[in-house]
Amino acid sequence: MRQIPAFRSRREVLLAALALPAAMLADDGKQAPKVAPKGPVAAPKPAASHGAGTQRKPVNTRHEPAAGHGPADPHAPRPVPHAEDVLKELMAGNKRFVAGQSKHPRATLARVRETSSGQHPYAVVLTCADSRVPPEIFLDQGIGDIFTVRVAGNVANNDEIASAEYAVSHFGTPVCVVIGHTECGAVSAVVNGDEVSADIGRMVVHISEAFQKTKRHNPSLSGKNLVNETARVNVWESVEDMIKGSEVIARKVRTGDLQIVGGIYNLDTGKVDWMGAYPGALSVLH
Ligand SMILES: [Zn+2]
Repeated sequence: MRQIPAFRSRREVLLAALALPAAMLADDGKQAPKVAPKGPVAAPKPAASHGAGTQRKPVNTRHEPAAGHGPADPHAPRPVPHAEDVLKELMAGNKRFVAGQSKHPRATLARVRETSSGQHPYAVVLTCADSRVPPEIFLDQGIGDIFTVRVAGNVANNDEIASAEYAVSHFGTPVCVVIGHTECGAVSAVVNGDEVSADIGRMVVHISEAFQKTKRHNPSLSGKNLVNETARVNVWESVEDMIKGSEVIARKVRTGDLQIVGGIYNLDTGKVDWMGAYPGALSVLH
């Protein structure tokens, strides 16, 4: 009953909190270039240029060299990479990880300095808080590459949705990946009917919906298979919740400026089983 006003209010608080560091940077003048705009930089595009006509470029998986000898203008608009290229990079990163050939890219102090003036993450990753599921490591990505949202059971409640919305609306991040995992404790708790506290109960209510759907469609499943299939359905549940819970996300999915895909991380192998785009997106979008 009080859910709607609380939803709005919490979302506003969170968005304000997320925006704060950027505002502080702008205010203290640390990052504000006092010099004239740099010569060879392309003509700035309007701030709202992450729409359909946005200039796009392949994912830059190396250090982006600053033009000339000064640091790049942190406020200069950057081309948004193609979603397809971002997905290829994430998949390639997981392949490297599984093959024992991780590059640990962009993980140095130089990268810290490079990104101190602003971030341009090319993917939002919503995944489980489980300590064995660290996305930067199993996707072999670096600092500033992915905007990570982690919560037990990778559910998309208000705060998680607001975080994802912040990234896609402020940075034009073109890809959102929801990654569940095998043998998820939060999913197991729901499947096994474990006693949970009221707070956790609120958190896992979405997993319960995924569990009910799984039982309806696969009544013969049990044990580990039931847990893992529920985790898979729960990924789509979160995708659906994100689209339904954020007008910004829904609009960007509709215009093709945001691709949301799912995946399941295998705790035994380190491999992500990519699930592609949400098959029910069209019906959710109407
Ligand atoms: Zn988990």
